[in-house]
Amino acid sequence: MLELLGLTKLYDGTPAIQDVSLTVRDDEYLTLLGPSGSGKTTLLRLIAGLERPDAGRVRMNGTDVTALPAHRRSLGFVQQNYALFPHMSVADNVAFGLRYREVDPVTDDAEVARRVASMLELVGLTGLDGRMTGQISGGQKQRVSLARTLVTEPRFCLLDEPLGALDANLRERMTVELRRIREALGVTFIHVTGNEAEALAMGDRMVVLDEGRVIMVDEPDVVFGRPETVRVAKFLNAYNVFSGNAQGDKFGVGAHELPLPPGTQGAAHYAVRFDTASIARGHGTAPAGHAALPAKFITSEFMGAKVIYFLEKDTGGVVEVERHLSRADPVDYTKDEPVTVHWDLADVTVFDTDGRRIYSPEALAGAA
Ligand code: ADP
Ligand code: MG
Repeated sequence: MLELLGLTKLYDGTPAIQDVSLTVRDDEYLTLLGPSGSGKTTLLRLIAGLERPDAGRVRMNGTDVTALPAHRRSLGFVQQNYALFPHMSVADNVAFGLRYREVDPVTDDAEVARRVASMLELVGLTGLDGRMTGQISGGQKQRVSLARTLVTEPRFCLLDEPLGALDANLRERMTVELRRIREALGVTFIHVTGNEAEALAMGDRMVVLDEGRVIMVDEPDVVFGRPETVRVAKFLNAYNVFSGNAQGDKFGVGAHELPLPPGTQGAAHYAVRFDTASIARGHGTAPAGHAALPAKFITSEFMGAKVIYFLEKDTGGVVEVERHLSRADPVDYTKDEPVTVHWDLADVTVFDTDGRRIYSPEALAGAA
């Protein structure tokens, strides 16, 4: 178990990490989502012992390690840029960590070769042992980097945007691979990413970081379906968020009024997930009982299993609607065609003036 207790780190008086408390369980895949500059790398460096906190403690399995240097922490750290040795072969890069690790280095050549071969097999690099790391692809470099860290058998493995440099196709494949590798080894992964889809897909639990603070920790489906604050909803890139004012049981968005769910008089932000909104042709065409917003069609993006429609509200601003193609064929609209975006009132999420959630859909798979 890894415990962070009130960690704070300042750079020139400005906090990069503010009062972060978090418990990471053994054998867990934790993802940490935050925009660039939110303190993700700083937090990993504090855990690794590469930075000293200005306040707070780090505990590993009950022992305070705050003062312990990095090489004594039994942690693996896959840094943002792989930092491989370009003049060394794939196998030598992986062997390096094992031969020169601080605690219990392996010196027997046959034993090193055996462990390197089994690690290369685990990460899918068998056959590339002798290749120089300057002569392999980005995805392969990523695997070497991972293998070099995992071969040292760390209890916790920190991964700083490990898929950031890969193209979308490879990223998706590595997503599955990383989960498989972690499960095979039973090691705890703390995987940092700026990509919401990655954070949602990979983790058993997910931490959302905003300006150095933890603003939500929960299972990915709960974070996705019941964001605690409007900031979380915005980071997920899956919600249309309208900011405005409640007047009685109505919510003003520009000149338009949307009905509010019961008990949400303090509403200041009104959010509708891309995949719970629908489109009807023309204005004034929403089904009875649905909230409706007049808009016009701008463009759509085909993404294989789904289509994202981009629409412009009458009052300006983009609204997105996601349609899964398992449900129906894609519908074509013409540019500037008038449409109505509509949704069931039961599907909305509402936040108060402090950005705190005051209403969210009841029936959600996986949500307690
Ligand atoms: P992220 O990894 O989420 O992009 P970082 O942890 O790298 O964020 O940075 C968080 C904040 O701390 C940023 O404002 C960054 O400029 C600042 N920061 C990070 N490292 C240093 C440093 N060594 N010296 C001064 N400021 C830093
Ligand atoms: Mg970073």
